[in-house]
Amino acid sequence: MENLSIDDSALKKNIEIVQENVRKAAQSVGRNFEDITILAATKMQNVDVINRAVSYGIAYIGENRVQELMAKYDGYNKEHISIQYIGHLQVNKVKYIVDKVDMIQSVDSMKLAAQIDKYCAKLGKIMDVLIEVNIGKEENKHGVFLEDLVQFLTDITYFKHVRVRGLMTIPPICDNIEQTRQYFSSLYKEFLDIRAKKIDNIYMDFLSMGMSGDYMCAVECGANIIRIGTALFGSRKKQEE
Ligand SMILES: *Cc1c(COP(=O)(O)O)cnc(C)c1O
Repeated sequence: MENLSIDDSALKKNIEIVQENVRKAAQSVGRNFEDITILAATKMQNVDVINRAVSYGIAYIGENRVQELMAKYDGYNKEHISIQYIGHLQVNKVKYIVDKVDMIQSVDSMKLAAQIDKYCAKLGKIMDVLIEVNIGKEENKHGVFLEDLVQFLTDITYFKHVRVRGLMTIPPICDNIEQTRQYFSSLYKEFLDIRAKKIDNIYMDFLSMGMSGDYMCAVECGANIIRIGTALFGSRKKQEE
């Protein structure tokens, strides 16, 4: 894997391209580039590549496997980065990561919230979380359905060591970007509606949506965290071969 990972100049260039695209997309809808967080989705990337990306300006990294996060954790240059968890999190693995991450973007059940609360209470930590929304109601995906979201948010306020900061979604794979845009727009609308409700201890600061294939659209639709893997590091398939 070491030898096959992306070279320096390509990595630097990819970061610049993504930043430029985000800038353009933001400008096109009157938003500020500075308000949008580019989070590197670092699954299957080794620590060396990740640290190089950090040296070129990436400040947020997202892991989506507990084992991988733990294996890489000591090697990250942690000084100026926020490490977040973006993948499906099994309840029995919460204890391994609560001390290592600044935010869990993928809270999708009350059981998971309870477990995060339990272990963060022990640490004296309040964990920032996003609620993962299954916007397309797909059977093979995790996440809360849109129509259950307000009840979910109301219930989760019970946990004092969990602080909801917003929403995250992975939309269904669509044939064209306009379909994707509808999913993004409907979640943005919900995001604003919830914010307007001012539920106690529920903050709607972050809307995490958009990946390599659709992040410009997501920015146009109101995302302020985009999670980018392939567009930064190249195809994961190629690196596996
Ligand atoms: C891998 C991954 C991404 C990034 O995917 P790309 O298409 O490679 O940009 C974003 N979010 C999550 C949850 C991921 O697992």
